Amino acid sequence: MGLTKIKHSSHSEHFLLLKYPREPYECNGCKGLGLGPCYECEHEDCSFYLHEECAKASPSAFHSFSKCSLRFHSRAPQEDERFCDACGQDVLGFVYQCKHKKPHDYHPSCLKLQRSLTADDGTRLHLREKLPSKCLNCGSRKTWNGIKGWSYVSSCGQYCYHVACVKDMILKKWKKGYFLQDGNVNETDNYLALQSAIPSRELELSSGKSSSKARNIWRKAKKAIMLIISALFGDPTTLISLLVQQLLSD
Ligand SMILES: [Zn+2]
Ligand SMILES: [Zn+2]
Ligand SMILES: [Zn+2]
Ligand SMILES: [Zn+2]
Ligand SMILES: [Zn+2]
Repeated sequence: MGLTKIKHSSHSEHFLLLKYPREPYECNGCKGLGLGPCYECEHEDCSFYLHEECAKASPSAFHSFSKCSLRFHSRAPQEDERFCDACGQDVLGFVYQCKHKKPHDYHPSCLKLQRSLTADDGTRLHLREKLPSKCLNCGSRKTWNGIKGWSYVSSCGQYCYHVACVKDMILKKWKKGYFLQDGNVNETDNYLALQSAIPSRELELSSGKSSSKARNIWRKAKKAIMLIISALFGDPTTLISLLVQQLLSD
């Protein structure tokens, strides 16, 4: 974590403070959801937030997946509808774009996605440009909107999830009011949250004869998704840990 107080050109009238927000926020830079630490305007009336990655975006960047030189723009220079090549979501504000004829676009926070994630039980996930097998959420190699998108894949290769699928799942929950204002998670919805993301074949397994193997697959799949959620939306110490507690208790 860097400086705790900064000035940013997109909101130059006030200082921004690095904070752990008590509730999910919409980043005023990229317009995406954030759950982790962010830069917030010191004047509460402003309700101005920036992802740490958006606040600290450098003028140029590089990612070994696309191998092109990317430039930061506070608005996409091209007029047409743009999608992030990592997460598949719309580009509505801050973006890194290259100069290819069909340019690559990345949200600043997506460009900084961790290459590998490790859970407390040792489960490891690796960021991949291409899926080695089908995504456990959508059952496909391409994402729902046809963007190839990045994925997280477990070391054993058994658990693959599109970044796009996990992000979309959380965004839908957010829009449905899944996250309550006080930072708690809507209880009635807590189990449904992940059902759509767990492969149905394994759901059948676990709802039938509950073998310990099926239980283990279920638990690992959930753990994988939770890891990805915390990588996508910020530090797991605040809201995510609440989510994890509720969603992993079975
Ligand atoms: Zn942002
Ligand atoms: Zn302000
Ligand atoms: Zn993205
Ligand atoms: Zn490119
Ligand atoms: Zn998928």
